[in-house]
Amino acid sequence: MTESVIYKNILAGAEQQGDDDKGYQEGYLGDAIRFRMNRDGKRFWAGDNISEYLQDTDKEQLINDAAEAFETVLDRLLIDRETDPNSKGTARRLAKMYFNEVMAGRYETAPDATAFPNDSADRYEGMLVVRSELRSMCSHHHQPVAGVAYIGIIAANKLIGLSKYTRIAQWCARRGTLQEELCNDIAREIMKATDSENVGVYIQATHGCCENRGIMAHSSLTQTTVLKGAFTTDAGTKKEFFDNIKLQQDFAPR
Ligand SMILES: [Zn+2]
Repeated sequence: MTESVIYKNILAGAEQQGDDDKGYQEGYLGDAIRFRMNRDGKRFWAGDNISEYLQDTDKEQLINDAAEAFETVLDRLLIDRETDPNSKGTARRLAKMYFNEVMAGRYETAPDATAFPNDSADRYEGMLVVRSELRSMCSHHHQPVAGVAYIGIIAANKLIGLSKYTRIAQWCARRGTLQEELCNDIAREIMKATDSENVGVYIQATHGCCENRGIMAHSSLTQTTVLKGAFTTDAGTKKEFFDNIKLQQDFAPR
């Protein structure tokens, strides 16, 4: 009996007991989770975090189920996963890669960003600009997106560790996204973690879906900018942000 069948039986039992998963018919754990999200009106697009609907132990089962589904995809693509040594473990590798790497930001809770007070007499009042390397994936083609985000902030009453900016940016990026969405997501999460209303995010990235397929443009580069608070209302702040980006790029060209 496969684990998913076992799970189906467990759910059938839960249904008989009047569990609130009643109405759920299919045999996979993912179907039960999807049922709960639909019931609650929770959006679960490729760029959304759904960690609140997962238990610690669910991931292994979700990976097993996805591996089974990827086997079917490989079969439909007429790839011999029985005798081709390179394709033998591919279904499981893909399942693990999606859950643990390229889409990890959907399933993991937000990085813990401990805040330190910035409210003494000599508080830091300048702009902070952090350069964060990003790896993401487009929702349309599941092709890699690779680039750099420059996160600018005018510190409010709390500061977070420098590495947290990058951890938050990467947590937002490790999903299926559009660059425009990603830029917004990073700005929103940084504002949430720092309580600052003055935030700017600028992303430069290359897109596998333009490089490896479609227009096959090897040097295409996409830039997106999201500005909040003083970054949009004050021309001096906006200029300082882009001047800082230029300085960073001179220091470490991508
Ligand atoms: Zn794409």
